[in-house]
Amino acid sequence: MVQQGKRILSYFGTVVLVCLVALQPMSHGQSGPGAPIAQGTRWQTQYYITDSNEPGPDVMIIGGVHGNEQAGARAAEHIRHWKITNGRLVVLPRANVPALNANKRSMPDLPKERSNLNRNFPKNDTDQPKCTLSKAIWDLVRSEEPDWLLDLHEGADFTQVNSDSVGSSIIAAEMPEVGDHARRMLRVLNETVEDANKKFVLKGPPTRGSLARAAADRLNTKTMILETTMKDQRISRRTRQHRIMVHCFLSSLGMVGSDMDVLVGDDKSDDAIRVAIYDAGGVGIKGPRNLEQDLRGIENVVVRRVGVPEISGGALDQFDVVVAPGGSASKQALALGGDGRGAIVEFVRNGGGYAGFCAGAYLASNNYTWSLKIVDAQVIDRKHWKRGAGQVKIELTGQGRAILYDRPGLIGIRYANGPILAPALDPNIPDFEALAHFRTEIAKNGAPEGVMIDTPAIITGRFGKGRVFCSSPHPESTKGLEPLVRRAIQWAAGR
Ligand SMILES: [Zn+2]
Repeated sequence: MVQQGKRILSYFGTVVLVCLVALQPMSHGQSGPGAPIAQGTRWQTQYYITDSNEPGPDVMIIGGVHGNEQAGARAAEHIRHWKITNGRLVVLPRANVPALNANKRSMPDLPKERSNLNRNFPKNDTDQPKCTLSKAIWDLVRSEEPDWLLDLHEGADFTQVNSDSVGSSIIAAEMPEVGDHARRMLRVLNETVEDANKKFVLKGPPTRGSLARAAADRLNTKTMILETTMKDQRISRRTRQHRIMVHCFLSSLGMVGSDMDVLVGDDKSDDAIRVAIYDAGGVGIKGPRNLEQDLRGIENVVVRRVGVPEISGGALDQFDVVVAPGGSASKQALALGGDGRGAIVEFVRNGGGYAGFCAGAYLASNNYTWSLKIVDAQVIDRKHWKRGAGQVKIELTGQGRAILYDRPGLIGIRYANGPILAPALDPNIPDFEALAHFRTEIAKNGAPEGVMIDTPAIITGRFGKGRVFCSSPHPESTKGLEPLVRRAIQWAAGR
């Protein structure tokens, strides 16, 4: 059918082939989304095929079986965009969509004895899958017949410290080849883990009822479960650990043609805004989460959390905007290091967008030894940076109402030790434009009164070919200001 499709294409153009592809189930030799599994049910979810059209292993990667184990689902969503030089890669990134949406381990609304998806796969030769979703996944595995299956999970704690958890381990099926690969993956990954207690270890076999166990026992598939650890670790780090393991694995099979920090597809015809949220040292826990929630309201957006290795390694080239959330700017700067800060500056200079909230606005400013100096604004009254947190009022300027949010009068917004900004008058950077001013203030911990009032609360500026947005207060943690956050990101993306 592929050959036929190509022949028809030469006569009638792209539209015909697109229709043919859409109507056909995926077969070998094709790449793209497969027909959704559990179609028409609340469990419906999408898998993706990348076929190199060269001989090689068939590998299946699954993420999101447990809905609170976000890093596995996120990593699989990145990995599905990797290029494959040999064999075939099938990725089901969000296996358990209702649980992922609820951020819950269990399947919502199912009786307790059937609520753990990873115990619902056949336990012996005659057993059947115990729920609609496990049946759909089991059918997919049986029809794809992968040589290898990697299931990406997370544990609550580091298994070396707390043996009640399997966090930071690879749980390998009892097959010699699987152990060999797992040990190689552990060696490579553990080079990036400094704390001895947090190093990954080999475990196995997978528990009865799990997909990895069922596929190994019943289908002779070589399987392993990769477990990162949620405790005290950023999503960006955990997600990258999954990518390191999978990349190492695919490399030793001679399959992978992409860097491990490829996070999005390189086809930009969808016109989506690609947003990288910095999620590592110096960032508060809530900022990235709130930003992700707000950005979901943009119709066509791809959001990824990135850490220092991704930024330093040039991964921002895949994005339109980088976001620096709240937290501590000096700690963000320290964690990013010279390479990370330099990569952000170059990204903006070359046309990228920057959006900084609170700490992210300090980071962009002009007058700290560690700041990025990508906006012509200096922080004043630096001595009293800890002036307090609470609700304040801002007022949008005409330009602010045009760009961000067409609302007259005073707007309540959360403030937490954000920078008090003034023009830096740097001749090398265009002057910033105020989009909003503070109309009330907070002056605790010895901060003098009257300094904050009427200073710019939200500003924009140009740096090189790029756009810089800075907000001293927190629209992303103020109910009702979600549209303002979305417009800020769209503006920074040049939309
Ligand atoms: Zn799990």
